[in-house]
Amino acid sequence: MKQKIETTCVQGGYRPGNGEPREIPIYQSTTFRYETSEDMGKLFDLEASGYFYTRLQNPTNDLVAKKICELEGGSMAMLTSSGQAANFYAIFNIATCGDHIISSSSIYGGTFNLFSVTMKKMGIEFTFISPDATEEEIEKAFKPNTKAVFGETIANPALTVLDIELFARVAHKHGVPLIIDNTFATPVNCRPFEWGADIVTHSTTKYMDGHGAAVGGCIVDSGKFDWMANADKFPGLCTPDDSYHGITYATKFGKEGAFITKATAQLMRDFGSIQSPQNAFILNLGLESLHVRMKRHCENGLSVAKYLQSDDRISWVIYPGLEGDKYYNLAKKYMPNGTCGVVSFGVKGGRKVAEKFMKNLKIAAIETHVADARTCCLHPASATHRQMSDQELIQAGVYPDMVRFSCGIENAEDLINDIRQALDKIEE
Ligand code: PLP
Repeated sequence: MKQKIETTCVQGGYRPGNGEPREIPIYQSTTFRYETSEDMGKLFDLEASGYFYTRLQNPTNDLVAKKICELEGGSMAMLTSSGQAANFYAIFNIATCGDHIISSSSIYGGTFNLFSVTMKKMGIEFTFISPDATEEEIEKAFKPNTKAVFGETIANPALTVLDIELFARVAHKHGVPLIIDNTFATPVNCRPFEWGADIVTHSTTKYMDGHGAAVGGCIVDSGKFDWMANADKFPGLCTPDDSYHGITYATKFGKEGAFITKATAQLMRDFGSIQSPQNAFILNLGLESLHVRMKRHCENGLSVAKYLQSDDRISWVIYPGLEGDKYYNLAKKYMPNGTCGVVSFGVKGGRKVAEKFMKNLKIAAIETHVADARTCCLHPASATHRQMSDQELIQAGVYPDMVRFSCGIENAEDLINDIRQALDKIEE
């Protein structure tokens, strides 16, 4: 029976049998028992599915990953210890030293750093292009060694909206997948696979957990990208893996299973960035109310954006759900039911005044965090995007006076009153 997303948020991934726990159990065990060495050997050869060591896989994690997989409409998913690990694995699973990736320049600062500094040191080259790039401009960025295209549905903190359909079309023309970080929209508001994306990543630390309680990440595979049709580009998936007795992932596990199986068997085995089962349990509690919270985050985001637009002490407001916003039409196409709770704006008077304003807030707290139940705010240029040069800041859509205001699920009027009194106080 095809069910709606609200039902999947609450009940997806796990269906207890007769007399089994109603809530997903926490398998707090590093290890798993087997009757014979032969049984265990089959797991090591990927001949049988099962668990042997929580550095690679854990049943609690897999049940929660299955729910996120169902929410996104994918074929297979895995949890990671953080959103950073999810984006690193998603790229490193198909690209290696000497390869090239095209990424939107409008992405989370930590991801930008991961790509432009750390992965560059590993010999993977990134070309950053505008999220507003035309088909021709995206085309131009391709090289013979390009292995993937990457972008964020709604970018943190610039709030640009990616034209997923366009980016997917160009990526596919060149035989590579489109990887979308869907953290801000969540599958409640946008399902990138429906628009042609191939792999979706999440920082589950944000709306999915939703309570600022557990750092985590997730990778979901659509199961649609035909690795074998582009075998020359993806030898890691399409030629035998010596560390698993010559298994070829794309032939043994097919389009639906190759990507996540390889990321689990190789990357989790070697790097071990697994989410703890405790955190996976907490994440699942968040997922159960994701659909209810996202609706309220979006309502509060729109109310706050409209208020800010009407206050002449504010120099500019960016909110893709706001009529007249540069990305309003794209947001309506990809997220007709709402975007997210994050609003960006500038306070007249620049950076110093913005800092004063933030200090005056009583309900909204200054936090690096974003996208959870409690309203928080941040000055990205001096925090998450601190490592960027002025030129890089502009490319990422981060203005020096930008305040990122993440609307929680409190009362909208209270949030607006908080902003108003903080602005009043600047003038005192
Ligand atoms: N992707 C996006 C869009 C983010 O906003 C963040 C963190 O803010 C990350 C990835 C990294 O996630 P984490 O902090 O869970 O490692």
